[in-house]
Amino acid sequence: MSDFTPIIRGLQRKCPACGEGKLFQGYLKLVPECAECGQAFSHERAADGPAWLTVLMLGPIFAPIIFITAMTAKAPIWVIFPLLGLFMLSTALSVLAFVKGGWIGALWRMDQRQASD
Ligand SMILES: [Zn+2]
Repeated sequence: MSDFTPIIRGLQRKCPACGEGKLFQGYLKLVPECAECGQAFSHERAADGPAWLTVLMLGPIFAPIIFITAMTAKAPIWVIFPLLGLFMLSTALSVLAFVKGGWIGALWRMDQRQASD
């Protein structure tokens, strides 16, 4: 298994250990353990990491969109900004669901490496 395999499995919202079971029991809530392989996830604490990484990834994309839209928009700004806000919020929340999976995959892999050392 490559070091990136658990991250890729997590990005797919699958168990980082087996790649078969579901990692989430809803939007962002982790399953207590994998239904396929029994790997426990109750000890994994992602905290603010996935949100931080999502902002880090999307900020450089959103900033120019906001700037260019504000400079070139033909519609009033009170129409444009709520639409931009809705677009950014929905994009960030969509990306966050997958980033958290990848983050948990990375944490799981680091736990495995520490356990084998
Ligand atoms: Zn599993």
